[in-house]
Amino acid sequence: MTIKEIFTTMEYGKAPESSAVAQQWLADKQHTFDHYINGQWQSPKTKKYFKSTNPANLENIAQVADGEVDDVNSAVKAGEAAQQQWFNLGGHARAKYLYAIARQIQKHARLFSVLESLDNGKPIRESRDIDIPLVARHFYHHAGWAQVMESEFPNFEPLGVVGQIIPWNFPLLMLAWKVAPALAMGNTVVLKPAEFTCATAVLFAQICDEIQLPKGVFNLILGDAKAGQAIVEHQDIAKIAFTGSTDVGRLIRKTTAGTGKKLSLELGGKSAFIVFDDADLDNVVEGIVDAIWFNQGQVCCAGSRLLVQESISEKLICKLKSRMDKLIVGNSLDKCIDMGAVVDQSQLTTIKNMIDIGLTEGATLYQSDNNLPKNGCFYPPTLLTNVEPASTIAQQEIFGPVLVAMTFRTHDEAVQIANNSRYGLAASIWSENINLALDVAPRVKAGAVWINCTNMFDAAAGFGGYRESGFGREGGKEGLYEYMQESWYSKLSIDKPKVVVSKGVEKTKSCSTNHIDRTAKLYIGGKQTRPDNGYSLPVYDINAVQIAEIPDGSRKDIRNAVEAANKASAWSKTTAHNRAQILYFIAENLEARASEFAQRICQLTGQTLAKATAEIDLAVSRIFSSAAWADKFDGQIHSPPQRVVTLAMKEAVGNIAIVAPEEAGFLGMISTIMPAIAMGNRVIFIPSSQSALLATDFYQILNTSDLPGGVINIVTGNRDVLTDTLAKHYDIDGFWYWGTAEGSKQVEFESAATMKRTWVNYGKNFDWFSREQIDSGIFLRKAVEIKNIWVPYGA
Ligand code: NDP
Repeated sequence: MTIKEIFTTMEYGKAPESSAVAQQWLADKQHTFDHYINGQWQSPKTKKYFKSTNPANLENIAQVADGEVDDVNSAVKAGEAAQQQWFNLGGHARAKYLYAIARQIQKHARLFSVLESLDNGKPIRESRDIDIPLVARHFYHHAGWAQVMESEFPNFEPLGVVGQIIPWNFPLLMLAWKVAPALAMGNTVVLKPAEFTCATAVLFAQICDEIQLPKGVFNLILGDAKAGQAIVEHQDIAKIAFTGSTDVGRLIRKTTAGTGKKLSLELGGKSAFIVFDDADLDNVVEGIVDAIWFNQGQVCCAGSRLLVQESISEKLICKLKSRMDKLIVGNSLDKCIDMGAVVDQSQLTTIKNMIDIGLTEGATLYQSDNNLPKNGCFYPPTLLTNVEPASTIAQQEIFGPVLVAMTFRTHDEAVQIANNSRYGLAASIWSENINLALDVAPRVKAGAVWINCTNMFDAAAGFGGYRESGFGREGGKEGLYEYMQESWYSKLSIDKPKVVVSKGVEKTKSCSTNHIDRTAKLYIGGKQTRPDNGYSLPVYDINAVQIAEIPDGSRKDIRNAVEAANKASAWSKTTAHNRAQILYFIAENLEARASEFAQRICQLTGQTLAKATAEIDLAVSRIFSSAAWADKFDGQIHSPPQRVVTLAMKEAVGNIAIVAPEEAGFLGMISTIMPAIAMGNRVIFIPSSQSALLATDFYQILNTSDLPGGVINIVTGNRDVLTDTLAKHYDIDGFWYWGTAEGSKQVEFESAATMKRTWVNYGKNFDWFSREQIDSGIFLRKAVEIKNIWVPYGA
């Protein structure tokens, strides 16, 4: 071809990256990957290995240790033995190790990049310019957090040995996201990479060895799901951090239910890419390329659902198709390609099956002739139009280079379609009107929202999802809380608390016919309502004399309460100042009736009047605290290295079910409800048996405090039955439970279906009078989700 012709066609030649150094490294390892346990390379106890191949040419890369329970046991033992000493080294010493890791990654960046592309099939351009630089940034950033841990988190301690299970789409980056914060906060690690992509994890272990990271601090277990399962089930592991499919995430939630293991899950997504009619369409097209064809679309937050305003749809789709025609698909080590190979034949089959489903459901397919290589796992950039929002391909994660396109007419419709998903990981909004973009961003249910950009990540900005995209955050300050706990937490007792609930042995009624019989009711949607089933339960005073009856709430009452909470969604959008004002008003009204409430406490519990009065005083003070924090527990602004600001906004979780601590009576009720509503949540509250009557007294105060109906809903009745109903309910976003170990297990297990954010006490007793515990900020943190909104700047 002549130069003149090249100027016309603009065709690229090949620009291959050499794999010589990586091949030599593999040869030095005799093409064998072993576990790295307690600072030593160890072959699997079973001596079994499986093959790992390069998906771009199906050539063998290495044989990989097939880890099982015994290997995991050794790794956990090593982690346990090393952990206390690792923490005791202090923040500065740990910072130096993390800094050394970051330095080594930079020094060997090219080897890491080539190895990653060989192993995974991703373009070298991406592993070299995105994955590996972000990995180094993650270790540098967290070296900083290790350095300041003692001053920033003086009342926190590490968890112990953490188990981390990662997927194949960003092998080393996912390792960095998990290992860096865990080590920084003083934990030790047992990590299992995906069976398809272990190479860079092995090189990482080699680097840990070279910098003489203390033995047992980082342990690498290779293998498939068996090894993952053994980590999840290991009783001495304090926390599981998992990234992968929602199905396995759900399984892990169920397996760990009730064990007390901390859990963070970063799962699938079906993220919306919303284009308004005033967007710069050429920029949008490049954005789409990054959103869905980056990493062959094997990205949990890929912008896989294109939502275009109807008026510009035709024009955009036309531009997009001509851009698709120019995308180059090829060998991962060619620097000129746009897309590499899909990770494995099995993933290729999954993608093809999903396309078949889409076509059966009536979608229209567009694939350009991208001249795919003959060998290897390649799939072309794909666009599906004519797609209904409810169709399978619009709802299910495909995890491949497949974009589904839909249209919308109004801004509200765009938000509705974007939120019509069981996932909530990310979204991308394109408009030249920043006011519009910033209006839509908070309304989209997603952990990361990119405005006029997409797929941007940084160690300082937390990443994680809503709904079935999982819970917990990775990166940022919020990500650190996943790897530590309040020092008082490990000291909580599990003795049965002393609770005075009179059982009414004598069955005497105090109600004389001279009194007007007061009927305590449920409190739903701001109204007092009778229970649907028409049953009541007796309430006895300390002398076993029946003093009242409370409604025996049931499944239908819970349904009504949740509906009422949904209708009160304006509470989450109202200003923090307004919420604070209403909380102050509640405190004022409670104080005005303090003696009446104190007497009721005495009547129910037999406490002295002085003690009961002190409890009310503290309750009033706690309401004041929640009101005070309503407009002070703010988000943050991050400045990542890119030309962008990240607004880390704290948002309400949504509908929170609260099952009150049995032992804490009225104070427990106030201490749990108030921070939840201060942060904008709506609450469905199940009082303890002891304080149920007080809860029904309390709604009279709510009625006179301007609290909108539906923000607090109180359902009395059998706690266990109501807990079960709430845990299974699809419209509950968060669940706070104080009760038995068995009850805690049930809440976590049942919540797996919808991935509710659960916070349970595993039968441990909080000290509800303790400032250290209750006013530590833990309630506020549990009451919010952090959404990062990325706003680029510069003309
Ligand atoms: P999985 O969720 O199966 O795998 C993720 C990790 O978990 C891997 O290390 C895997 O091991 C391990 N694992 C698998 N089963 C168990 C188990 N029972 N207990 C503990 N660990 C387990 O994802 P796949 O790799 O199979 O991909 C399937 C689908 O998941 C994709 O098509 C995509 O939709 C989604 N996915 C989402 C990702 C995300 O980032 N959100 C990343 C990857 C996949 P091993 O690989 O050895 O089986």
